[in-house]
Amino acid sequence: METAGELAPSARVLLGPGPSSVPSRVLKAMATPLVGHLDPEFVRLMEETKALLRFVFQTKNTLTLPISGTGSAGMEACFVNLIEPGDEVIVGVNGVFGTRMVDIVERCGATPIKIETEWGRVFTPEQVQAALGQSKRPKLVALVHAETSTGAWQPLEEMAKIVHAAGALLVVDAVTSLGGCPVKVDEWGIDACYSGTQKCLSCPPGLSPVTFGQRALEVLRQRKTKVQSWYLDMTMIEKYWGEERVYHHTAPISMNYALREALRLVQEEGLEARFRRHERNHVALAAGLAAMGLPLAAQEGHRLWTLNSVTIPAGVDDAAVRRRLLEEFNIEIGAGLGPLRGRIWRIGLMGDSSSRGNVLLVLSALEEILRTQGHACAPGAGVAAAQVAYAGG
Ligand SMILES: *Cc1c(COP(=O)(O)O)cnc(C)c1O
Repeated sequence: METAGELAPSARVLLGPGPSSVPSRVLKAMATPLVGHLDPEFVRLMEETKALLRFVFQTKNTLTLPISGTGSAGMEACFVNLIEPGDEVIVGVNGVFGTRMVDIVERCGATPIKIETEWGRVFTPEQVQAALGQSKRPKLVALVHAETSTGAWQPLEEMAKIVHAAGALLVVDAVTSLGGCPVKVDEWGIDACYSGTQKCLSCPPGLSPVTFGQRALEVLRQRKTKVQSWYLDMTMIEKYWGEERVYHHTAPISMNYALREALRLVQEEGLEARFRRHERNHVALAAGLAAMGLPLAAQEGHRLWTLNSVTIPAGVDDAAVRRRLLEEFNIEIGAGLGPLRGRIWRIGLMGDSSSRGNVLLVLSALEEILRTQGHACAPGAGVAAAQVAYAGG
């Protein structure tokens, strides 16, 4: 076997569906010395991280911590801990991640009741109400706050009241919203919520922040069966992250360093300022794309600030455009998934990647590439429209 060369990854501009670009302070934190997972210094870091996570989730929930694993581990943790075989679980399916939730619910031996709408659209409280009416004993309702596969932004404010009135829990996927737009766990009555580190928190992938509220804890305590997954069993994980500090699995030390530093950056910027930045950059990008004849694909009024799904113009070669963005401009954007493959691009403006410089860069690069694909617009039209938006136009 040939000797593998030294690792030399390109400094990409990460404007896809995640990972987003990682600030050097976070990378530096990962390169600091390891301590043991029960070292008093690490224990202090765990407490700080829990407090910082409560801050970003806007919750007082005691059981708030990072699961070892990517966002999907947080998703799985919520389901395996809260449902038991035979339960009925209502899942909103309007993209890839609702579909993934259904898969997990089935693997738990529970029965999913799907609420469906076209990919790119969101659910109304009436649709959730109707689904609750179809179930005799709904255990929980699961919704994706920010559907990364479509760019749709699901309103949640009205949902908890309806879900709780039916005796069910509200579980929310906030992987592409946490740190990029408001996620108000307590105010909105969310019972369990999970996220990921590599989207709007701008930390490498590897941890999944979760939070469980009082109602969810009661359901967990009253289980008749063991949690199906040993690794994701919150009744054991909480004993390591809580006062007992009982060994369960070795915490990924460097990843936890990174998350703490990424959360410190969120705290320094301030949640409101961070949300406004994401909003401003989305508005400018959308204005620029519109001026170039590239309309956003998600339902009007429900478009994420953090993930922009862009309609690919007829006759344009989807893969060729993405390849040239990467090869000539070092920019990564995402392809469409499932039924949206070849129909949309996904431009993420998450965390550190959400900047004015990146918006102007991707508009300018797209303009140049699309011209050679026969989709021309007035020279500089996209960048100019974005600049007008930044100027408050
Ligand atoms: C990325 C993502 C996930 C899965 O996270 P991984 O880190 O890829 O495991 C789940 N839900 C949504 C909405 C996501 O965007």
